[in-house]
Formats: sequence, C-alpha cells, structure tokens
Amino acid sequence: MARRKKIYEGKAKILYEGPEPGTFIQYFKDDATAFNAQKKATIEGKGVLNNRLSEYFMTGLTNIGVPNHFIRRVNMREQLIRQVEIVPLEVIVRNFAAGSIAKRLGMEEGTPLPRPIVEYSYKNDALGDPMVSEEYIIAFGWATQQDLDDIVSLALRVNDFLSGVFYGVGIKLIDFKIEIGRIWDGDFMRLIVADEISPDSCRLWDIKTGEKLDKDVFRRDLGNLTDAYSEVARRLGVLPAQTTHLTKPTLIN
Ligand code: C5P
Repeated sequence: MARRKKIYEGKAKILYEGPEPGTFIQYFKDDATAFNAQKKATIEGKGVLNNRLSEYFMTGLTNIGVPNHFIRRVNMREQLIRQVEIVPLEVIVRNFAAGSIAKRLGMEEGTPLPRPIVEYSYKNDALGDPMVSEEYIIAFGWATQQDLDDIVSLALRVNDFLSGVFYGVGIKLIDFKIEIGRIWDGDFMRLIVADEISPDSCRLWDIKTGEKLDKDVFRRDLGNLTDAYSEVARRLGVLPAQTTHLTKPTLIN
C-alpha cells in the first residue's frame, strides 16, 4: 500500500498531502508542549477533542461568513483542510489580562482590558516566537499594511464569535491565538483563518468559578487536561459519543 506523504510535522499536529490538489489532511496528535517545547507530555484523547473542537469553531465561522481553511472532518483525529501559505505570525487577541501581557505589564490575571487588544508574535520556534510590532511585520515583508488591516478584521470577528459562543456556555474567553493563511485564486490573494482553534490556543475560564479549562492546566500543572477539554466539549455539545479514545488495539468484551 502506498504511504501518504507527510508535508510537515509540528508539535501538536501533522500535515499530510490531501486527496486533491490544494488540500491537506490535518492530523491532531495527543502531544502537548509548553514553554517552547521545554515541557512535553502525551495526553491521551487531546487530539480527538481538538479535532472535534476545531471543526466546531471553524464550521461556526464559515456559517457567519468568516473564511477559514476547514473543509470537513475525515475521522476522529483528521480533518481535510485547504492548503494555505501560512503568514509567519501568531495573531493574539486579548480580552482580559493573562499570561505574557500580565507578566510584561505587571497586571493581575483576569483584569478586563479597555478593549480587545490584537498583538503579533513572529512564528519562529528557535527564537521562542518573539512579540513583534506592525512596523517589524511590514518592514520585514511578512505582511503588508493591507494584509494587516484584513488580519485585524478577521481576528476581531473571530473574537466576537468565540466570545459569544463561550459566554453562552458559561465560559469567559480570556485570550486566544489564530494563524492566518494566504490562498491564491489566479492572481488574487485572500487571507483566511488557518491552523486550529481549540483549548490549546485559547485561555478559557469558567465564568462562575474561574476554573481554567485550557492548556494552562498543563502549563501550570493544575490537573487533568483531558478532563478540562472534555468539559469544554461537553458544554458545547460536541463531545464524541465515545469519549475515551482507544489509542492501541484494545479488547472490548
Ligand atoms: O502566552 P501568552 O499570554 O502570550 O498567550 C496568549 C494566547 O495565545 C494564549 O491563549 C495562548 O494559549 C496562545 N498561544 C498559542 N501559541 C503560542 C503562544 C500563545 O496558542 N505559541
């Protein structure tokens, strides 16, 4: 049997060649990393949950007209996506202070920000994804001013959508990261939301208790990550019927 071609392997996902030109298969691994891969673990079930959750958010974005790479889910761990040229930026939107902004500015985590703040990191593992300004992005040619206008507009639409969806299930969207891809239609280029949207790339706090339901559970050793992600999936009604994923051949009586 022919082996499919691996295009790229990242920390949490693998991209394979898709069934037709212009597509990829995105495979969600169970691997979790933090602090630029200095902390690593395999967390059983994470890939299945993130595949389902990313499908849920991307489909929701499609329904409100926010262009993104998602085509369809193929199985428990894989989805068919559009092939894009990734803009080498992590686009972060923050509604409340947490993580790096709280540290950098000496703010208490959970402090509401005066308005959503969009910021960028340069996607480069060797450098630890340093924060960069619009000046840097334009000067180094990673994106144009027009691209940045489109990116901010996409990021804020994603923020409105996600904030509303999470609020509806009692979760506060503290911040999140998205990646943006270019697609070409002849000579014309469009920017679309790519990569994934999942509790790996968001900060999610229970509105009532403040309990963390995102990757900070792993980063800060706060408990069981799969339980936290399952809780998010359960509230959104997207938990697969079989919640315990069998990673190896297992005898079921
Ligand atoms: O660490 P920081 O506070 O800058 O992270 C902001 C948001 O971006 C968090 O939701 C975090 O999970 C996400 N992020 C990410 N991938 C990175 C860096 C941050 O998904 N490499």
